[in-house]
Amino acid sequence: MLTIKYLPHITLLLFAAATVCTAQVDPKWEIHDRNRPVPPVVTPGTASTQEAPGKAPSDAVSLFDGKDLSKWVQKDGSPAKWKVENGYFEVVPKTGELHTKDSFGDCQLHVEFAEPNPPKGEDQDRGNSGVFLMGLYEIQVLDSYESKTYADGQAGAVYGQYPPLMNASRPPGQWQTYDIVFHGPRFDAAGKLTRPAHLTVLHNGVLIQDNVELTGPTGHHVRPAYTSTPEKLPLALQDHNHPVHYRNIWVRNL
Ligand code: MG
Repeated sequence: MLTIKYLPHITLLLFAAATVCTAQVDPKWEIHDRNRPVPPVVTPGTASTQEAPGKAPSDAVSLFDGKDLSKWVQKDGSPAKWKVENGYFEVVPKTGELHTKDSFGDCQLHVEFAEPNPPKGEDQDRGNSGVFLMGLYEIQVLDSYESKTYADGQAGAVYGQYPPLMNASRPPGQWQTYDIVFHGPRFDAAGKLTRPAHLTVLHNGVLIQDNVELTGPTGHHVRPAYTSTPEKLPLALQDHNHPVHYRNIWVRNL
């Protein structure tokens, strides 16, 4: 029979089952156990400045070295058509989105972008692009500096789902950063969702998405349901007809 003393444990178990992205203390190890394996060593990177991109951590996969788009292709697999110059690359309107050649799932992703300067257009028609985790889940890239649009479509929004907690945008022309922690969805053998995707995002160092649970892939005026996917798919950058700049993109597999 259930007594009141077990209720907190049951609540905790249900909570743990619902939020599988939350780490649990491993009961295998005693507290401060000196036999417990220590974490691998990583050489940290360096911070970027407006003048120059920083260095990625030693275990990161660089997706752009400032010189070429060899890690990227067009959606149809043909060579990337976006323009590379002066250590950055630029969306070439109407060429379509870029996809990474490699696939990524759970990851830490660092992206730097700069909005067109002088700014052109308003609302969603101003410096629009996007970072698509697994090619499906968009973190909006937009010029939201002193420019209004709907909340769940401004810079740093999980488009159509979660407005950013803050508007941490820098002025057009300045380099900005997204640091993203992504845990992709999981499906059972029958294709049923067993874990929704989760996202955390820092925009220019400011927390703007705090472990939000995604409703499914990104849509426009719709929130499509999840459909079963592999655990890893290519990352994508959106062509929304605006010449947004990107540089210093790296990813760490989790
Ligand atoms: Mg967009």
